[in-house]
Amino acid sequence: MQIKGNLLRHGVALADKKTASRDLPVEVLPAPDAVAVCMSQHIGKPAQPVVQPGDAVAQGQLIARADGPVSANIFSPVSGTVKALETRRDDRGASAQYVVIENDGQYTRAFLPPVTEKTKENILSRIREAGIVGLGGAAFPTYVKVTPKTPVDTLIINGAECEPYLTCDYRLMLEKYAELLRGIRYLATALGVEKIYVGIEKNKPDCIERFSAEEDVITVPLRERYPMGSEKHLIYSCTKRKVPCGKLPADVGCVVQNVATAYAVYEAVELGKPLFERVLTVSGGAVKDPKNLLVPNGTSFAYILDRCGLEENCAMVVDGGPMMGVAVSDLNVVTKKATSGVLALTRKEIDGRLPTPCISCGRCARACPMHLMPMDIDFYTQNEDYEGARDRGGVLNCIECGSCAYVCPAKRPIVQSVRTAKAKLRELK
Ligand code: SF4
Ligand code: SF4
Repeated sequence: MQIKGNLLRHGVALADKKTASRDLPVEVLPAPDAVAVCMSQHIGKPAQPVVQPGDAVAQGQLIARADGPVSANIFSPVSGTVKALETRRDDRGASAQYVVIENDGQYTRAFLPPVTEKTKENILSRIREAGIVGLGGAAFPTYVKVTPKTPVDTLIINGAECEPYLTCDYRLMLEKYAELLRGIRYLATALGVEKIYVGIEKNKPDCIERFSAEEDVITVPLRERYPMGSEKHLIYSCTKRKVPCGKLPADVGCVVQNVATAYAVYEAVELGKPLFERVLTVSGGAVKDPKNLLVPNGTSFAYILDRCGLEENCAMVVDGGPMMGVAVSDLNVVTKKATSGVLALTRKEIDGRLPTPCISCGRCARACPMHLMPMDIDFYTQNEDYEGARDRGGVLNCIECGSCAYVCPAKRPIVQSVRTAKAKLRELK
């Protein structure tokens, strides 16, 4: 079944830059000699290691246990020996604990038993056990999301993949369609809902056609406009429900999950496979051989880029998409559960101009999908008035989509201002 989506006002039209990798089937990246698995790769408390240096581990074995209700289990992506527990800086500059595992190349497995009775309780418990988190970027523990405090009636699957360059969700929808569909139905059972929407941008007509043939899924072709895949906009596009400021999707009866998360649910339920690897896109003008790769958690960007070939004219490496991702300063950073892309961009692809004073043109406000005044948030933050950024600029409603910075002719660092203001407000709290 297919319906027409509701329109996203504001946002920006972007060149999708997906041609380099969209037709390339997913390849399996051989695991490196050693992986460094981060204990803090989800929203919430870091997981607590349950292994020590010298321990032998199998692929899929629990190496760190969720610590508290908002946390997630972590599993070894290879078999081998734990070499060290060490503290490192991650791609955002925060320090976190890592479990370093030497790969013995044997791939001895220790998966969970498959779930035989697919009841709501069994699926929920498997989602928690398998350490599944939102793979669309937020890395929020999925178990928490599928056990909302308020009753919900609708599951929305995010197949928009609106960030330029990224094609990993697209490949998953094409190559693992049947399995993905089963994962989506398990998520619906876990939530106890019957209404399922799948939102897909119109630049993926083959995926739209497949989902439209399903009786129990309402397919919503989405306008190609960034950030179409943001939760609040996707909910509006599919259901016309508006999530009020400061509220959650569950407050309007909806839960949103990414397609890759649904596929991870299928693997956990039917194969007993916990979440220790994922498909990501390696692309950008400075990558010789763009690819969609299945990558073990904890693999360094240097290893990935070495396998795909890095051109000398690389000016920036980005973890994630170009709009919401972060530039990395060190190629020794490693992939996490939510790493959807490794982009190596040339100077031509990035805008290296330095910021100049705001000229009050208003373009950022016209682009903002959250109807904020981004120039005000930037102004208050630059003047270290973080409460002003919150009370008059509405910074806590910002989804950090980057549309404002993209259109700003003065190249104001608005997203950095947003992140600084949010961090300072957390400190003040
Ligand atoms: S202020 Fe926030 S939500 Fe608005 S365009 Fe900028 S980054 Fe996006
Ligand atoms: S787009 Fe840039 S220059 Fe224009 S009002 Fe916004 S911050 Fe100022």
